[in-house]
Amino acid sequence: MSVDQEQFLTVLSREDALARFEAALFPRRPVTEQRALADAIGCALAHDVAAPIDVPPFDRSSVDGFAVRSSDLKDATGNRPARLALNGEVIACGVAPQLIVTSGTATPIATGGPVPRGADAVVMIEHTQPAGEGAIHIDRTASPGQFVSYAGSDIARGEVLLRAGTIIGSREIGMLAACGIPQISVVRKPKVAVVSTGDELVAPGQSLRPAAIYDTNGPIVSAAVSENGGIPWFAGSFPDNEAKLEAGMRAALANSDMLVLSGGTSKGSGDVSHRIVSRLGQPGVIAHGVALKPGKPLCLAVCDGKPVVVLPGFPTSAMFTFHDMIVPVLRRMAGLPPRADARVQARVPVRIASELGRTEFVMVSLVEGDDGLIAYPSGKGSGAITAFAQADGFLRIDALADQMAAGTEAEVTLFTPHVRVPDLVIIGSHCTGLDIVTAPLARADLSVRSISVGSLGGLAAASRGECDMAPIHLLDEKTDVYNAPFLKPGLELVPGYRRMQGIVFRRGDSRFEGLDARAAVKAALADPACMMVNRNQGAGTRILIDRLLGGARPDGYWNQPKSHNAVAAAVAQHRADWGMTIAPVAYAAGLGFIPFAEEHYDFALVTARKNRPGVAAFLESLRAKETRAALEQAGFHPV
Ligand code: AMP
Ligand code: MG
Repeated sequence: MSVDQEQFLTVLSREDALARFEAALFPRRPVTEQRALADAIGCALAHDVAAPIDVPPFDRSSVDGFAVRSSDLKDATGNRPARLALNGEVIACGVAPQLIVTSGTATPIATGGPVPRGADAVVMIEHTQPAGEGAIHIDRTASPGQFVSYAGSDIARGEVLLRAGTIIGSREIGMLAACGIPQISVVRKPKVAVVSTGDELVAPGQSLRPAAIYDTNGPIVSAAVSENGGIPWFAGSFPDNEAKLEAGMRAALANSDMLVLSGGTSKGSGDVSHRIVSRLGQPGVIAHGVALKPGKPLCLAVCDGKPVVVLPGFPTSAMFTFHDMIVPVLRRMAGLPPRADARVQARVPVRIASELGRTEFVMVSLVEGDDGLIAYPSGKGSGAITAFAQADGFLRIDALADQMAAGTEAEVTLFTPHVRVPDLVIIGSHCTGLDIVTAPLARADLSVRSISVGSLGGLAAASRGECDMAPIHLLDEKTDVYNAPFLKPGLELVPGYRRMQGIVFRRGDSRFEGLDARAAVKAALADPACMMVNRNQGAGTRILIDRLLGGARPDGYWNQPKSHNAVAAAVAQHRADWGMTIAPVAYAAGLGFIPFAEEHYDFALVTARKNRPGVAAFLESLRAKETRAALEQAGFHPV
């Protein structure tokens, strides 16, 4: 079998793979180290810590006042106050008492002062009156023990203060300091070497050469290592060259407790990392191919006691597999308890198809519906990194299911400890101009959730009451009217802005320079070498293109990306010579632009939600002078 055709011969289930991985690594004795309190933040305590002393170490007054015998006050009232003679000392903090409080006497004492012998209660200074030279009146009774914090009442000597495995935070440090403990034994954080591989990778900060992409996994895996108790060490990005990569991986592993590599895991030619892993130590590869989606090409190995992992290359796949399969192991090595991710129940508004036989993770954005939370699946593909930042969490579709039906109540694992219910929910067609309109809301601490599902999807969501408004740009071909004909009951149209659609081409291309849109398309059709880039079916832009083409199908017609930016990128990178996009996008890409038709980008507002603060702020921003100026500046035309 050639390397190219090699298949994932033994794909393990998620549970099997994790169980085998853990069995090969544990039990193991944790490596511990002594750390000063201040340096122990975030570390896991290695052993139970017992209190060496009582806290407080002595019976202590909790108020400013007078130490007394409660029996002296048993008959005290406003009419017949008790008169007590003052003893000749004042007990400030840090002052050990010398005199006994005998019956009929009181000793002045400050908050935190040790209660003197003989006294069994403290009376607040506010409840006393001077009664001539060296005496006070007290007009109420005191119960024994009043305002006394007894020795050991906070922490008792010998008591287990903190259990092994506790993560040290400021509160734990406070308890340890109160007991006089200057340093503790913690589990040494595992040092995790992070390696990226791929001929196409460029480090952030350097310029991007053609066909290259920035290394995303290096930084994101390093950050996830820190979040889960490890010390990340980025050991570098290596080309897909077996010898160089092997040398890099060996050096990285020799200087760390664990190696996490990403990329080069599919069993195709040029993907060499799993072959190298199999040579790094015993027992070697434990699983290569796990029934996860995303994440099937995951490779798990143990090399001479150290975990070695090859994550799939796509950043979202890398992160899901890292969190699901690697984090449990990393946290155990770091002495931390399993992750306690917050989970919520939410309804899925649309059907989600799923591959049979693989545990599938689907990122979702949460919005508040009329009867509970709604989980919108992220529309972006497995290569999308923003899906992670914009989603609130993910749901899991069982390996045995081939779909999750619309209306299913699903469990969503949150990326953050709490659900952040947004102040404004926008579901529909996305536009860069929208960011300009919502900018003032962010400055006013109003959170905005914007979910791109296209104009029609947005209208459906608005009708179901799942959002506050749907941005739409739909041309009714019968009436030639934008948007209004598409409104359903319960929705009203708020005029937004116009965006100029037109032909985009590379400046200086003599086939287009100086022509109007119709003439430009005619010129393009006349040149068989001229290649176009189209838009997806259902896009407003596509309707305009089809009008201009009038039934022609030039080369490039079937290249149908889903965004304005993709059209501009195709033209800028010479994969196509012309296409249709909006003016701001063409100009931002430094391309030539021939205006064709102005498109109406409006908002279908859910009338019942009109008075919500987030909606009101949005409408105010839409009308504001500053917003309108900023929209104009970016090439949009507010109406
Ligand atoms: P591979 O696993 O090497 O076949 O990579 C699969 C996909 O992930 C390819 O599109 C790679 O360009 C991409 N990829 C691999 N490594 C990285 C990385 N470190 N950062 C961003 N994308 C990556
Ligand atoms: Mg690769």
